[in-house]
Amino acid sequence: MTFSIHGLAVARGIAIGKAVLVASSRVDVAHYFIEPAQIASELARIDQSRQAVMLEVQRLQKLVPKDAPPELSALLEVHLMLLQDELLAEGVKHWVTDRLYNAEWALTSQLEVVARQFDDMEDAYLRERKGDLEQVVERLLRHMKGLPTSLPQPAQRKPGTWQQDQLLDDSHDVPLVLIAHDLSPADMLQFKQSVFTGFVTDVGGKTSHTAIVARSLDIPAVVGARNASHLVHQDDWVIIDGDAGVIIVSPSPIILAEYAFKQRQAQLERERLTRLRHTPSVTLAGQKIQLLANIELPEDAAVALSVGAVGVGLFRSEFLFMGREGELPGEEEQYQAYRRAVEGMKGLPVTIRTVDVGADKPLDRTSKDEAHLNPALGLRAIRWSLADPSMFLSQLRAILRAALHGSVNLLIPMLAHTREIHQTFVLLAQAREQLDKKGVAYGAVKVGAMIEVPAAALNLPVFLKYFDFLSVGTNDLIQYTLAIDRADEQVAHLYDPLHPAILQLVANTIAQGAAAGKDISLCGEMAGDPTLTRLLLGLGLRQFSMHPTQILRVKQEVLRADAGRLAAWAQRVMAAEDPAAEMLVP
Ligand code: PEP
Ligand code: MG
Repeated sequence: MTFSIHGLAVARGIAIGKAVLVASSRVDVAHYFIEPAQIASELARIDQSRQAVMLEVQRLQKLVPKDAPPELSALLEVHLMLLQDELLAEGVKHWVTDRLYNAEWALTSQLEVVARQFDDMEDAYLRERKGDLEQVVERLLRHMKGLPTSLPQPAQRKPGTWQQDQLLDDSHDVPLVLIAHDLSPADMLQFKQSVFTGFVTDVGGKTSHTAIVARSLDIPAVVGARNASHLVHQDDWVIIDGDAGVIIVSPSPIILAEYAFKQRQAQLERERLTRLRHTPSVTLAGQKIQLLANIELPEDAAVALSVGAVGVGLFRSEFLFMGREGELPGEEEQYQAYRRAVEGMKGLPVTIRTVDVGADKPLDRTSKDEAHLNPALGLRAIRWSLADPSMFLSQLRAILRAALHGSVNLLIPMLAHTREIHQTFVLLAQAREQLDKKGVAYGAVKVGAMIEVPAAALNLPVFLKYFDFLSVGTNDLIQYTLAIDRADEQVAHLYDPLHPAILQLVANTIAQGAAAGKDISLCGEMAGDPTLTRLLLGLGLRQFSMHPTQILRVKQEVLRADAGRLAAWAQRVMAAEDPAAEMLVP
């Protein structure tokens, strides 16, 4: 039966494919495809864990005191049986061999299959054995991660979503879409090179970092789809409408045909836009507008160039730091990465932002610190860097060294206090001294600050005094000004770039920057939204930094814009009680 699920549209376009579900586990696991040559070693990894956990359970059995309740021994016996269970072992083998899932993903996928069967059992005692199965799988996952394997509490898991008979369908050619409860930004990066043609997550807001990475992949995505990962079954046919934020499950042939048509239209539109690649980005009056790229990895420089970006306005360096199980990249590794980005841009400027982890960008899957209830207000971005000077110094040295290979700007995220500015410059001077002492060559950099905390936007003279340029981070500026967690889909309807307070802060930053003769760019998601291009031009913005995928759409708007006439209109929009309604007035 066809049904639809509504979420938030985050990356445009239509994807049609079979659903691949990523189960969420209490032990966060990596999900990636392996090469066929790795099948044997991946299976061996699972087997080693199985043997080790069996030994551990047997050891526990010996430790059970004689007077312990008989249930305890019975429980361990059940765990041993499950570890040797054929259905579990064969199923896991299927996911690894036929679908090329990594070991952890295969285990959680098979867990969902078997858990579903337990759910269907009439006998209450047997039904409850699902909890044991979950504990066993979690023991295995923990062993693979090098964590202690004993699990103090019974597992709690949502009902499974797999159909056993669908296991047999292992066709490699059909397009696949990924459905998950949640994906970390690091997970999304892993999927960057993957086969998925669309993404859906239950949670997340429009400017959550998961959504941002999805947008950079330029494939249709919907986040905040609440219980999609419950409602969609493995291998269901799914349409993801990334423009409308809708997922259509098990579509009828008529609906499928309609969306296939829409998909072709979108493809034609893309092809038409690529013709603008070499067209200079100027308004009707000939005003030059710089369209820069936001990138996550050095390799993204090639995409940026391919769409005619005139530089990188935001290299989110934190993606080099993520998913490494706490082992941070050293100076040399970072230097090589920054150098690759700089050389990749072939002489065009690259703005490297110092690491901005925390909030919805945990370093790795295990470091989500639930004890900190407000991570967005916690030790994030420059605060994190200043709390660990030796880590920060090694990043600064790496960036300074990369500046020898091209035009590099250094950008500092989330500054609010004047003393943070001073501390940053002290450490920058120290980084230069350290390089001097070692006789290591480095280049000149311009230093800029992100304006993404209201305290910074309301204290611009200090920022304009110390920095060469400013970059407005509207994603966070909106989050912190409107008190809306950007990653929380429950308050997504309140996340409003057109709120008068936001427009005033943005307009004021642009105006004060222009008066001080400093470059002001905007690198939040607003910059890449073509429906806002005219407004931002009217407010005086001349540098936009966005996902490479958005550049041509925004350029199209720039080419049609009469920036002179837009200025008065933009002032009216900003002054309106309801700017969104005023936007519609020509
Ligand atoms: C922003 O906050 O607007 C920004 C560009 O930084 P990030 O999205 O990485 O927080
Ligand atoms: Mg930010």
